Amino acid sequence: MHEMTIAAELLEQVLDVARSNEAVRVESVDVECGEQRQIVMEALQMAWTAVTEDTVAEGALLNLSERPMAACCRDCGLRFRPAIDDYRCSRCGLADVDIVEGHDIILQSIVCHQADEPTD
Ligand SMILES: [Zn+2]
Repeated sequence: MHEMTIAAELLEQVLDVARSNEAVRVESVDVECGEQRQIVMEALQMAWTAVTEDTVAEGALLNLSERPMAACCRDCGLRFRPAIDDYRCSRCGLADVDIVEGHDIILQSIVCHQADEPTD
């Protein structure tokens, strides 16, 4: 499953950050998903719950947002938002474009608790 791989990669990044901050618990994680990746948000949430089990990120809230795609035409330089199945430039009609945004999964921020913080 596509989402399972993404969740595992995200977890790795989150655990790295948690380790360097000496966190004992991860509260929430904000992630931006590029539109081009066509992620099923519900599936990613389920995968996240599964991969975080027995880690410091167990129970951490996963806040997902989608980043729209942006393309730049290599021919005329026009920057536009392509359809997911049609990358043709709206000015010159060529499909020779660079996807400049919307193809990455970006870990934006993490909220975690350190050991010496009081908890209730
Ligand atoms: Zn063009």
